[in-house]
Amino acid sequence: MSRGLAAHGLPILPGGQQQTTLGVVGGGQLGRMFVHAAQGLGYRTAVLDPDAQSPAGLVSHVHLKADYLDAAALATLAQQCAAITTEFENVPAAALRTLAGTRVVAPAAEAVAIAQDRVAEKTHFMRCAAQSGVRCAPYAVIESPQQVVDADAHLFPGILKTARMGYDGKGQVRVADRASLALAWAQLGSVCCVLEQQLDLQAEYSVILARGADGQMVHFPVQRNTHQGGILALTEVHESNMAPALAQQAVAAAQAIAKSVDYVGVLCVEFFLVKDAAGQMALVANEMAPRPHNSGHYTLDACDVSQFDLQVRALAGLPLVQPRQHSPAVMLNLLGDLWFASSSAEPVTPPWDQVLAIPGAHLHLYGKQRASRGRKMGHLTFTAASLAQAQASARQACAVLGLAGF
Ligand code: ATP
Ligand code: MG
Repeated sequence: MSRGLAAHGLPILPGGQQQTTLGVVGGGQLGRMFVHAAQGLGYRTAVLDPDAQSPAGLVSHVHLKADYLDAAALATLAQQCAAITTEFENVPAAALRTLAGTRVVAPAAEAVAIAQDRVAEKTHFMRCAAQSGVRCAPYAVIESPQQVVDADAHLFPGILKTARMGYDGKGQVRVADRASLALAWAQLGSVCCVLEQQLDLQAEYSVILARGADGQMVHFPVQRNTHQGGILALTEVHESNMAPALAQQAVAAAQAIAKSVDYVGVLCVEFFLVKDAAGQMALVANEMAPRPHNSGHYTLDACDVSQFDLQVRALAGLPLVQPRQHSPAVMLNLLGDLWFASSSAEPVTPPWDQVLAIPGAHLHLYGKQRASRGRKMGHLTFTAASLAQAQASARQACAVLGLAGF
């Protein structure tokens, strides 16, 4: 049961004489955008990330360059910060537990631990399904040779996914039958995995919400996502994204998933849209991220409050206001491949000047020094008065950059 903010030592107001500092464990692009939002409100920031060139470390007041489980660094972070969040789910839950001994930490280690483990995550989704009506894909846990032999025939063709540490489609193998399952499991190191039935996806969506320590929840509109090679390529957000009844169901399911773990912070839940046995459209919960999400980057430019603003507010116990999307938005992810579009072996900076000449273009580059294929280097959001215009501008950018259209 959630208690009032004061019971949690909240709110933590910015602008005090003490130069209040907010901390983030992890220094990637999500941490960088959290830092920008926190600094916008006048907080100081501290980042814990071993990489001296981490995108968030480069823009933060303080950058602790140490391992996530380094006891001295965790003690310094706790000593310097009034409240601490995380920007990636593979941060050791133990680090968050240590910090929570003395400081406000959101989301809690327990919620992050669920999102770190596909088995725990699916168990949680199924527990919430009774209330939300949204189940996950049929699956089986694979952690022994016998479970490979016993895998139910209806799970094929399927996708074998490592239970832990997967992202951007890494740690996943498609399997046609039991023989290929055995090979795939060996290929993934015989670690704990889930075998998921491969669904015929009609579309993919995500819902991002923020929940405060007092239980208040607000959410962004449902986002429609397109993946290429297991990596998010495109997010489109506008009123006609999804039938209203399904959109309501997706939001309600995400809220149930957050509430049942007394979640505090920004949470993203990914959904698949499939046709059920009766030919009706139905939602399936895929996974959740205990942090802002790539599919919510458009909120920086198309909403009056961004997902990072809400992350700061939820952490500091400031009021959560329902965001308003003021423009239809199309977001393109910018991967390192763009730097290798020409035949040159050396990376070549893409023609950003031509991209910025397109009306409604919002370019965000994360300050990563080295481009490599598949690496998220930035994103590009197009806003316009109409969806058609935002799409036309995004298509123009695709042509300039040599990106596959949509
Ligand atoms: P993320 O970068 O979102 O963390 P991830 O590596 O954790 O990705 P998933 O979200 O599980 O992986 O899967 C990546 C993509 O693979 C999905 O967005 C979807 O396009 C496809 N996919 C995953 N599971 C299934 C499934 N059961 N049936 C069909 N397609 C699937
Ligand atoms: Mg995913």
